[in-house]
Amino acid sequence: MAFQVPRGTQDILPGQSERWQFIENIAREVCSIYQYKEIRTPIFEHTELFLRSVGESTDIVQKEMYSFEDRKGRSITLRPEGTASAVRSFVENKMHAAAQQPVKLYYIGPMFRYERPQAGRYRQFVQFGIEAIGSEDPAIDAEVISLAMSVYQKAGLKNLKLVINSLGDQDSRSAHREALVQHFQPRIGEFCADCQKRLAQNPLRILDCKKDREHELVQSAPSILEYLNEESAAYFEKVKFYLEELDVEYTVDKNLVRGLDYYNHTAFEIMSNAEGFGAITTLAGGGRYSGLVKEMGGPEIPGIGFAMSLERFLAAIDAEQAELPIQSAIDCYVAYMGDKAKDRSVSILNHLRKAGLSAERDYENKKLKGQFKSADRLQARFVAVLGEDELEREAITLKDMESGEQQEVSISDLAEVILSRKNGK
Ligand code: ATP
Ligand code: MG
Repeated sequence: MAFQVPRGTQDILPGQSERWQFIENIAREVCSIYQYKEIRTPIFEHTELFLRSVGESTDIVQKEMYSFEDRKGRSITLRPEGTASAVRSFVENKMHAAAQQPVKLYYIGPMFRYERPQAGRYRQFVQFGIEAIGSEDPAIDAEVISLAMSVYQKAGLKNLKLVINSLGDQDSRSAHREALVQHFQPRIGEFCADCQKRLAQNPLRILDCKKDREHELVQSAPSILEYLNEESAAYFEKVKFYLEELDVEYTVDKNLVRGLDYYNHTAFEIMSNAEGFGAITTLAGGGRYSGLVKEMGGPEIPGIGFAMSLERFLAAIDAEQAELPIQSAIDCYVAYMGDKAKDRSVSILNHLRKAGLSAERDYENKKLKGQFKSADRLQARFVAVLGEDELEREAITLKDMESGEQQEVSISDLAEVILSRKNGK
């Protein structure tokens, strides 16, 4: 019987994995420039962590978690997202006591959600995300958003759309909540079963429903922006001002919400406008939260973050046909003629590799012609050919595959010569 990957998962094969590494490196570089430091947390956590932080009423907790009992009967969950673990670790390691605040963290790793697989939606996917915990300066909101935009732009993406909204503070939200209840109550029967529950639990989330998004009452729902108190409105103005200072273009979408009580003030999403991107166009989502650190047992400290999946990032790169400058050519292929030369090629290859050159040789007893074919396939910049005669002189023939030039060099100088020719000397 032949095995297959589980539904909703994929193998990333050589040829593709270079693309993954490339965008991961962009994320790491941008984080280093913006001074976000990597945090690595376990891939599984106590289920309770996600019940408390992601929230019992969310799709993630209700339908999407990979939970199981371990051998001692404890409930364990494969992490569906990264914020819960980051905040848990922040509290557990008392990072609020660090001299430098806010604490700026990033993570890259697999997340797991039991979803219906489709383009852009997997059961195991890789998220890159950041969290800035410990500051309520609207400049940090703008920084977080601009970091996300920079990552996409560095990969060559151009058709991006940033939408932002404000959810206000607790006061603004309770006023808005009442208005929403009054708005939906009389006709809640026309909505899906989930929304009927949401009316009592968290009416804000009706605005986020995938089934009822076209309903006229969703379209005409009272906007949170009209319910922002003075402080919240001023906060939002500042975020917008800083985005302008950072040359980040945005659109305000009053229906952009985040489902949890913890979210307040800034919410944002980045979408791809590329043609042919498919039905799912959201690349990244994020927002500001307060109360979450406290819920995890820490002090009353706010945070802001976002998460993006690398799967959708790569899909956007494909949709825009953005070229990633991935270097696959090798520096030198070591070819041999005859048994003695074959034996000696082992240490020559090693010599090149120790000098930091990417190098390869034949392991299939190919004739010289076949070895040159391999060198071509590997896009070798140079081929070093070792024959028995040359070996007696401790020499090797170096062929420059770009110019076709050949030159005999001493074996002990080979790495030096390649290094200097490669650097254009
Ligand atoms: P969606 O509305 O698409 O389900 P979400 O609200 O569940 O998204 P978040 O939990 O905010 O998404 O996750 C942030 C980002 O992670 C998304 O913008 C998307 O890039 C990515 N993402 C979420 N779920 C998946 C998935 N199943 N497969 C691939 N990427 C995903
Ligand atoms: Mg989802």
